Order: sequence, then C-alpha cells, then structure tokens
Amino acid sequence: MGMRRVTDVMLGWVGLQRKTPMKRTPIKQTGKKMRRNTPKRAKADRAARKPRRAFQDQFLWCWFCENAPAAGVHEIASGTGNRGPAVQQRFTWAAACWDCNSMRLTDKSEWPVARQLAFKYVNDREFFNLAEFNVLRGHAPGAITMADVIPHICRLIDKGRKWQC
Ligand SMILES: [Zn+2]
Repeated sequence: MGMRRVTDVMLGWVGLQRKTPMKRTPIKQTGKKMRRNTPKRAKADRAARKPRRAFQDQFLWCWFCENAPAAGVHEIASGTGNRGPAVQQRFTWAAACWDCNSMRLTDKSEWPVARQLAFKYVNDREFFNLAEFNVLRGHAPGAITMADVIPHICRLIDKGRKWQC
C-alpha cells in the first residue's frame, strides 16, 4: 500500500494518472518463468517427467547431507546450456534436498563435480557413466576420470557412509 501511494504521488508529479492497478508480480520472477517455458525445454521436461518421477520414488532421502528428504532431482552436470539434455539423462541425476540442491552444491570449490559423481557412484552405480557425463558437459569423454572420482569415494567410505559392494 505504501509503495503504491508513493508511486501514484510520483506519477502525479509528472502529470500522469495511473489507469490500471500496480502489478504485484515481481518482474524478475516473470522473466525466469518465460525462459523455462521455451517449447524445446518444455518438450524435454515432458519427456523426462516419468523417469524423473521414478527416480524420485527410488531415492527419498538426500544423498549429500543424508539429513533431509530429497526435494527433487539434482543435475550434477547442470550449467550453461546443459540443463536441457541433463534433464533427460539419469547418469547426471542425484537425489538432493532443497538446501543441498539450491545452496550447498552450487559452491563448486566445496562440491566439485568429481565429488558429486562419487555420490552417484555410491548410490546409483548402475547408471554411472563417466564418458557420457563428460560429453554431455561438452568435454572430451576422458575429461574427468575415475582417478578424479575415487578419492572422493574413499572419503565417503572413511566417513562411514552407507556402502554396499
Ligand atoms: Zn541435503
């Protein structure tokens, strides 16, 4: 209310009159929504909906903090231009809670991709595919190697995380 009154007063200063009520939707959010709904992306999202739901049904708990329910599918390979294909490829999926997905894992100094891949290896090894993962990110098939991932797997073992051979 306060904001609106101030704006109307300001319009009055320049001799204009508001004809429609002020929009309440923040502009930033609208822009984000429009970007997500491009036809190409919407098609990719639709195609991935079922397998992603199955994945979410399989993994109900966050792999990373093991302290909260998984809130969605985290794409380990996400980044510029990767989200479209990453949405459909299980080798890049991880189960993450809201906090890990949107906050913790975005810190790549603490959570490099090789470390995140160690969680994929431990939790969903059947769908671990390093070569395809590298290619999806626009790198050579051998860009990240098992030598990069194994130390992080060892850290998980040393921490006494769940581990099944
Ligand atoms: Zn978490």
